[in-house]
Amino acid sequence: MDIRELASFLVGKVVLRRELCTKSLSPRASCQRCAESCPLGGIEITGEGPEIIDCNRCGLCAAVCPTGALKDPERTPAFFLARGREILKIYEEVVFFCPRSPYRIRQEKAGNLVFVPCLGALPPEVLLALAVEGRITLILPKEGCRGCALQKGQEIFENNFSVLHMMLEALALPPGRIKLTPEISRGRVKPGHSVGLEVAMGRRELFAALFRNIKRWEREENEGRARIPSTRREILHQALVRLEREGGLPQENRDWPQAGLKVVGPCYFCNVCSRLCPAGALILEEERLLFKPSLCLSCGLCLDVCLHRSLSWGDKVSLKSITTRERQELAVVTVKECINCGEKFSANIYAQLCLRCSLQRPNPSFNLAPNLGGNGELKK
Ligand code: SF4
Ligand code: SF4
Ligand code: SF4
Repeated sequence: MDIRELASFLVGKVVLRRELCTKSLSPRASCQRCAESCPLGGIEITGEGPEIIDCNRCGLCAAVCPTGALKDPERTPAFFLARGREILKIYEEVVFFCPRSPYRIRQEKAGNLVFVPCLGALPPEVLLALAVEGRITLILPKEGCRGCALQKGQEIFENNFSVLHMMLEALALPPGRIKLTPEISRGRVKPGHSVGLEVAMGRRELFAALFRNIKRWEREENEGRARIPSTRREILHQALVRLEREGGLPQENRDWPQAGLKVVGPCYFCNVCSRLCPAGALILEEERLLFKPSLCLSCGLCLDVCLHRSLSWGDKVSLKSITTRERQELAVVTVKECINCGEKFSANIYAQLCLRCSLQRPNPSFNLAPNLGGNGELKK
């Protein structure tokens, strides 16, 4: 926990790491997912990026931020993963519950219970990683999220839950590993284990658990053992590597719940998108623009910063493109002749104007070749 995180923790707010926010990378960034998700309306988007005015640390903004710029130091994805793993060493299932779960659940001292301020704050990657190792139960109040002060969490939870189901389907993991129920589930203790874990419910216990985990992760790292991955991407990759090692990855290729990218207009290989991509998922190399789906955070910054609006979301990427860390070719340099000034220039197949003539035209669609189809191939 660095000094900013500690200060934020002490004043009861989530931490914003501005350097990771797409808004700090470019004023053209259109992302405002954090502001839209805050149930208090406590985040304002200013010229400098988001400002956290009011916060009850529900964790919903952190759950929707694609780049991990927002986090609750007490309840990071790594914390939920480590806590879940600790429980799965002893119990057959880990149970997450929110403040609106029935009162008796909140009073329950069963060791396999983990409190979350809102189920929407649980990243699907964490739930997937735990589902690879054991069973998960999410306790939803009988009446659903109706009337909850964090009602925006319902939409986020439903979205995360459907992404999780698509991930389970792609990996051919039984959907029964994740259960949604209004009923408490104490879970059976695995053979050979006794119950020694207390439930980390209160603020003090959570803090203590966090420090306990940090110490343990440091120890494990020093001993060269598998560390707890910190970002959602790392958590996903570690789960996929584990499945692959155990021979649990499906042989056939399947859709993965992540949009791909495609180039739909002129590309002059200016390097803006690849330089600004916070994940290093776009690479300009050997006269080609390449895309690595396994690194992409779906933040949309590349779409916003391309001057020619030439990048667009594509179809879902494949599971193999993630597991094999495939590099996909988005655009290739060709030598062309400008239809306006006659100069030779380098660009992809969509460009008909040289860069200078293109920038003088306010309407980028002028630059689309009339004889090119949607996929960039010449029409007969
Ligand atoms: S969701 Fe994340 S990247 Fe988007 S504006 Fe908020 S902090 Fe920045
Ligand atoms: S896609 Fe757009 S931003 Fe990226 S290199 Fe091509 S022209 Fe530049
Ligand atoms: S390639 Fe992915 S991570 Fe990189 S800027 Fe585009 S959407 Fe964001």
